[in-house]
Amino acid sequence: MVSQKIHSVLLASPGIGHLIPTIELGKRLTTHHNFDVTIFVVTTATSDSDKTKSHILQQISNLNSLDIIVTPPVDVSDKLDPNNPSLGLQIVLTMIESLPFIRSEIQSMKNPPSVLIVDIFGTAAFPMARELHMSSYVFFATNAWFTAVNINLPFITDEAFSRHAKNHEPLSILGCEPVRFEDTLETFVAPWGPIHKRYVEVTREIIAIDGILVNTWHDLEPGATKAVIENGVLGRFVKGPVYPIGPLVRTGEPEKGGDSENLILSWLDQQPAESVIYLSFGSGGTMSKGQMRELAYGLELSQQRFIWVVRRPTEDNASATFFNIAGADGTIMVDYLPKGFLNRTKDVGLCVPMWAPQAEILKHPSTGGFLTHCGWNSVLESIHNGVPMVAWPLYAEQKMNATMLSEELGVAVKATKTVAEGGVVCREKIAEVIRKVMVDDEGVAMRVKVKEYKVSGEKALSVFGSSHESLCKMAKDCELHLHHGSEAKGR
Ligand code: UDP
Repeated sequence: MVSQKIHSVLLASPGIGHLIPTIELGKRLTTHHNFDVTIFVVTTATSDSDKTKSHILQQISNLNSLDIIVTPPVDVSDKLDPNNPSLGLQIVLTMIESLPFIRSEIQSMKNPPSVLIVDIFGTAAFPMARELHMSSYVFFATNAWFTAVNINLPFITDEAFSRHAKNHEPLSILGCEPVRFEDTLETFVAPWGPIHKRYVEVTREIIAIDGILVNTWHDLEPGATKAVIENGVLGRFVKGPVYPIGPLVRTGEPEKGGDSENLILSWLDQQPAESVIYLSFGSGGTMSKGQMRELAYGLELSQQRFIWVVRRPTEDNASATFFNIAGADGTIMVDYLPKGFLNRTKDVGLCVPMWAPQAEILKHPSTGGFLTHCGWNSVLESIHNGVPMVAWPLYAEQKMNATMLSEELGVAVKATKTVAEGGVVCREKIAEVIRKVMVDDEGVAMRVKVKEYKVSGEKALSVFGSSHESLCKMAKDCELHLHHGSEAKGR
């Protein structure tokens, strides 16, 4: 058999949190597994003006190994219920609308691709892959537990969903911890509407595909990883194999970026080792004005050094900036932070408007804790740098992630709110959890644990490591598919 490079097309759905792991997968495939990779970056009408995305694209365009095609921006607002514009549905519809462009680009490629890899929002592309004789894979840029939820989904009965939603019974997931109602997804709270139906349809698309890639590794989640692999092997839920291939994570660029980036990193250079807590809620996370004030006061009470990525508050949408994280004017922060806060904390803290160089901050030796919304990329970046966390989940599967980090892995403490606190996490609680991670004995134990997971993640990706081997197997399967395809065409 002549060993030829496998050309794979990767579709990144809108959202920085979807683009970043897709790029990391592309890099891994080209540098370690003899693939040619083309990435389609799907954009919405709003994300098109997004400076940060351009910055990230600029960084990757320096990597000659990846071909990047940015799709024309799509506006699906007329297809959404204005009273319930589900973020997930918006992304799925954007992917569907972008398919004709992607198809015509693929068909005009001189080196026709034989593999299509999409994230969970791009499964509508699978019929196209079949028509174009490409093998198809889904890349879950999340953990094995949430992947298990997705592959179980088409097989969960309406009755089980109803008991979960109405009686708050845990949702059983084969071979994994059940999903407790307090950790559940927004769509599972009302699992009878069109959004839930659409979600099930999306997951049904993965039953017959060639394989599933998951951004986790065996030693992080032995039970859930085994469960998803066995589901695949036994053909119980999905036909193709499941490959745990993580942690694929952004490691921070060696060279420094723009002025504000340099300022943050130079400030960190002047702080003692592991003394700074970094606070960020991913690309989309926002909170109410009341909650933001409590967070500011809580930070002051904690008496810890900090870097806080501050966003304009929103009252009723925790993912308000998901599609648009363009830089903001820092001076407006005084409008929504407590009076005098910036001045009182100027010697111990930095407030950064909208966006910070997270990978570089977490990598810095002065960073000792991360208050995070528990998006999976953020979690992996924290583990990769051996940084323990305060878990403050906002939406999507983040509550499941927070539970796993605090109760199973022992690398985070949760910031939870009580009813008595009137729907916000109060300042005393915030100070308590920050001190727990930064100074208490509990934090010391978490720091030890997270560093153990850091090492185990590195081992998984090294030659002969479980994740490296897993991606080798997937590459081999793609090669076989390519070989069979060429034979069939030659006949
Ligand atoms: N990120 C960043 N700076 C910020 C906020 C986020 O660099 O101020 C990056 C972060 O490092 C991560 C990604 O954006 O790689 C966010 O992905 P995650 O899965 O954590 O959350 P999402 O944004 O998808 O909710």
